[in-house]
Order: sequence, then structure tokens, then C-alpha cells
Amino acid sequence: MRTFGYTVAGSPADAVRIAASTPESTFVAGGTDLLNLMRDGAEAHDHLIDVNHLDLGERVDAGSRRLRVGASARMRQVAEHPTVRREFPVLSEALLASASPQVRNMASIGGNLLQRTRCGYFRDSASPCNKRAPGSGCPAISGHNRGHAILGGGDQCIATHPSDLAVALVALDATVHLLGPGGERTVPVADFYLLPGSTPDLETAMRPGELITRVDVPRTALAGRSRYLKLRDRATFEFAVVSVAAALRTRGRVVQDVRLAFGGVGTRPWRDAGVEAALRGRPLTGQAIAEAGRLLVRDAEPREGNRFKVELVQRALVSILSDLGGLR
Ligand code: SF4
Repeated sequence: MRTFGYTVAGSPADAVRIAASTPESTFVAGGTDLLNLMRDGAEAHDHLIDVNHLDLGERVDAGSRRLRVGASARMRQVAEHPTVRREFPVLSEALLASASPQVRNMASIGGNLLQRTRCGYFRDSASPCNKRAPGSGCPAISGHNRGHAILGGGDQCIATHPSDLAVALVALDATVHLLGPGGERTVPVADFYLLPGSTPDLETAMRPGELITRVDVPRTALAGRSRYLKLRDRATFEFAVVSVAAALRTRGRVVQDVRLAFGGVGTRPWRDAGVEAALRGRPLTGQAIAEAGRLLVRDAEPREGNRFKVELVQRALVSILSDLGGLR
């Protein structure tokens, strides 16, 4: 790892000011992903700005209309918060299905949202990779692609985003709050992550020097009937092969409202309004869920190593909606 400078920021405005005046700098909180990336040569920064001690308000603040989570809250704090467990179970379940207890104690919510892909070529600085070195190629397309995306890819990059939390936040219509040289702004989490297109090195809608300050999640009855299902190669400390975040409200058997987001299958946390629309207003039956699943994968572009995900994600959808809807 090359040497780098280090400054502890005293306030959010201070952090943004330091970033604007320090070339090749970035923010660090828990550092559980960033320091690995720097050690492996997948990222290089000359200066780290420590944002662990900023006053970002209550770390978890359950207001009457929304849940507010400070960016420096730790994954464990949020996962175990009584209000989160009771009224936003999908968030708690997604966080508890992530990483290890040790990492959850250290890793911040902001850092979780900004963690980088687990694509092995990206993390191996000796491999070509369009995301790390634009124009160098994407060996995953014809190489090891078992963990890669079947939706939203292309000929430049097929990497998935690894955050379970981001999938749950997309399902609940959460927003990310940012502070940067141009002031404050908010971005829906659904728009926060970019499709790779011809610029897979650009992963989020963040502008240079911006800092995530918090995440807001609307407080709705739907959020209270939510779940997260994660399918992975081992029971703990593993990234999703396929995951589903679902929230469901029914009257009788009829779907009044539904939110669905998927991890492990898209180049960003994947939400498809057409799939939700196909379920809304219909009795929740095995046939209705199966049709929604087929709609979800209608544009799938599987590769040799990840073809199994086309069926697996449909089965995961059947499983989670059957549980939430009381079909079994
Ligand atoms: Fe790089 Fe994306 Fe290809 Fe992986 S899938 S090698 S991250 S360009």
C-alpha cells in the first residue's frame, strides 16, 4: 500500500472543504472496504478524510413520518434498533445478513452504500477491468462470471453491486442526502446507482467531493410488512448470489401494494416497476407470482457461469411472496 495523508474532519462542512482543496482525497469511516481496496491496489488515494466524528444528528432517529439514519451509524446499531426491527424489518434483516458481526460493528451506513463490487477482476490490480481502468476490457464477460449480473449489463461491465442494505432501501423508496461544494441535495436510492453503460467507472450519482450525510426512509404500513431473503454460498459472511427485498400489503388475497428489489442479479440494486404493477390489484396466487417472475427476467442476459440465476431469482420471488402473503 502506498503512503497517504490523514485528516480528522471536525464538521460536515469542514470535511467537504478539505476534500475540495485536497487532490486525490476521499472520505473514510469504518474503512472496512476502502482499506482493503487500497491495500490490493484497486483504489489509490493520496489523502483520507476521517468522517467518524462528524455531528450528523441522531444516528438513528425515528420521526413520525420517516426513519432518519446518519451516515456514520454502524450497521449493527441500525440492524438492532428496536424501531427498525419492528417497523422496517427488511432493513434489519438485510443488515444482519451482511458481512460478519465484527464488520457490522465497524462499517458505517454511508460506507456500506459506497462499497465496491466483489468482481474478482476488479479487485485484482493485475487484471484488465473497465471499471478500474476504463478501456482496458472486461474479462468477466467471457471468464468467471458466476457472481455477475444477468440484468442491466452490456459489453463494458456486468458487475453487481454488493450492498444488501441498498437493495432494501430501494424497495422502501429511501433517499440519500448529500453535502458537497454545491450545497445539500437528495437523491432517491433507486437513482443513486448508475447502470454501467459505456462508463462503468461511474457508479453513483454523487458529484466530486460530495459526502453522504444521511439516509431517510418513509415510515409506511407497507414497510412494516417487509422481508429480506438472501441466497448465498454459505450461511454467513458471504455476498448474495440472489437476494430479494419485498414489502406487501394485501386485502383478503388481493395485492393492494407491493415493493420489490433484487440483489445479485443486476448491475445495480434492481427494481422493476412493471413487475410490481403486474401483481398490484390481483389475487396473490402462485400463478400471479410466476408471471411476475417471468416478467422480471424477460430481458435477462445470462452468461455461461450465471445462467442459473434466471431460475433462482424467480424461485426466490415465489418464496418471499408466499411467506409474506401467507400462501404456505
Ligand atoms: Fe471490471 Fe466490471 Fe468487468 Fe468486473 S465485470 S472485470 S468490474 S468491467
